[in-house]
Amino acid sequence: MNVLKVSIVTPDGPVYESEVEMVSTKAETGELGILPGHIPFVAPLEIGAVRLKKAGKTEYVAVSGGFLEVRPEKVTILAQSAEIAENIDIARAQAAKARAEQYLEAKRDDIDFKRAQLALRRAMNRIEVYQNR
Ligand code: ATP
Repeated sequence: MNVLKVSIVTPDGPVYESEVEMVSTKAETGELGILPGHIPFVAPLEIGAVRLKKAGKTEYVAVSGGFLEVRPEKVTILAQSAEIAENIDIARAQAAKARAEQYLEAKRDDIDFKRAQLALRRAMNRIEVYQNR
């Protein structure tokens, strides 16, 4: 057992499906590196990059939170949104970042502030994943 099936799924449908050698990502408890044969567990995910090691290369997918389900032969990521690096619209992410920064500087009420912080993290994550492609 030296490969791991990986599915990344969003409410809009599947985003990534492949067999990989290793999956790395950020859970709420910290960085995770998952190899084939891992014991089963479920963990909530942060806004971050999923790194998929495959044939000596690393592929990047930006995910905006969700859940990771690990089984010995399969990893399933149920994400609120997910984009493969190649499919990221960088201009859109930069515009979203600028918009969020404006909100944060304007210091409106707490709800707007929290929402803008999350929007900023999503945008910065997309920009970082795009730059790693
Ligand atoms: P925006 O303000 O630009 O809409 P957002 O962070 O609010 O960004 P989400 O609610 O996370 O966007 O995502 C809505 C949908 O748009 C999802 O399907 C997501 O994959 C897609 N999406 C968002 N930003 C981008 C981007 N920069 N490139 C490609 N797809 C994106």
